[in-house]
Amino acid sequence: MAGKIVIIGAGQAGAQGAASLREEGFKGAITLIGEERAPPYQRPPLSKAYLAGALAEDRLYLRPREFYDKNDVDLRPGARATAIDRGTKTVALASGETLSYDKLLIATGAPPRRLNVPGADLPGVAYLRTIADSDHLRATFANAKRLVIVGAGYIGLEVAAVARKAGLVVTVLELAARALSRVAPPEVSNFYHDLHRAAGVDLRFGAALSGFEGNGALEAALLADREAIPCDAALICVGAAPATALAEASGLKVDNGLWVDETAASEDPSIWAAGDVTNHPSLLYGRRVRLESVPNAIDQAKAAAANMAGRRMAYDAVPWFWSDQYDLKLQTAGISAGAGETVTRGDPKSKRYAVFSLNQGRLLAVDAINDPASFLVGKKLIGLKASPDPKVLADPEKDLKSLLA
Ligand code: FAD
Repeated sequence: MAGKIVIIGAGQAGAQGAASLREEGFKGAITLIGEERAPPYQRPPLSKAYLAGALAEDRLYLRPREFYDKNDVDLRPGARATAIDRGTKTVALASGETLSYDKLLIATGAPPRRLNVPGADLPGVAYLRTIADSDHLRATFANAKRLVIVGAGYIGLEVAAVARKAGLVVTVLELAARALSRVAPPEVSNFYHDLHRAAGVDLRFGAALSGFEGNGALEAALLADREAIPCDAALICVGAAPATALAEASGLKVDNGLWVDETAASEDPSIWAAGDVTNHPSLLYGRRVRLESVPNAIDQAKAAAANMAGRRMAYDAVPWFWSDQYDLKLQTAGISAGAGETVTRGDPKSKRYAVFSLNQGRLLAVDAINDPASFLVGKKLIGLKASPDPKVLADPEKDLKSLLA
């Protein structure tokens, strides 16, 4: 199969899309446009090992630079797409160049949501998404003494762990009543709350940030109740917003992400999308979802590439995710939202246990802390839409694999 494929966004999904198109036997031209300077790289270490200084930059790269030449992928780092014209099937670049396509893959990701509070533009107030952001934050840690993190989601808590290890005084402000409230059941939130408190992190819930103050440099974060928390560095981690502006301007359907079907196809027969930017149907959960995770970006991009190359492939994987904080690895499979009950396996005090979230008996999600076996079996059970015996789930003496029989 020949023709021209353009991919907008050279991140996890875009790079996977290019590689998978070649694996699918696509022989035509592939242009991979990325506004960042680095070749496609993985973001997870930016809030973990890379931020801590334990990983070199080239270890972040998803594939060696030679990969793109060898596979005849025209990688364009530092190039930003500014418009999609679906009528003429062209993509305009900021450089003034126009690229024509037969098929287009949109993989623009989801940059951090910005907070427009007074003082948010003070030096010392940062966001974390790119290598440059992580470099900047690490350099800040070397000089700063007091860090305020806005948002107790995964990224905020991972940075809190690294910052504590670097010796900073860390305060985390969270508007909700608990940490990880959008993504984890209360048991897991409480566990991480206790973990961070024990490490010396000051976690504040129901804390509404009203702004930052400082005279040329950051001096304090201000709460709605007027309390000022002294700090010389701040990180805003209040979620991400899908980068849908180009798609929306071209008339594609956008509602909490760019709408695609289970084959990653948009409503335009020449356009597919993959990764954080998409809103896609989950057959497993019977509703649309927008996911922000590496496995989602990889698997959806593989499906997009197969369908673009003419081989039908539906994407309906069990969502999964991981988070490293201190010496603990959390692995999550499924989506716990909507769960009516939870079952705990193992003792949280042992720091090796799992929480299963169920609804009317059906397993919706598992959060496994230093417990890969529960994660793996739980993930399979979720994919099977199983209703496992809660007594077996709860009893570490009983073999979870028996539930798969
Ligand atoms: P991205 O990888 O973000 O790539 C999108 C790319 O498109 C970007 O490089 C962007 O600059 C580019 N782009 C956007 N618009 C344009 C344009 N107009 N022109 C040209 N280029 C454009 N996930 C996990 O599963 N586990 C983790 O532990 C984890 N940790 C994370 C830690 C951090 C700090 C961050 C930021 C994310 C983390 N994630 C984690 C999420 C994961 O990195 C994302 O889900 C994944 O990168 C999504 O891939 P993507 O290709 O959709 O988007």
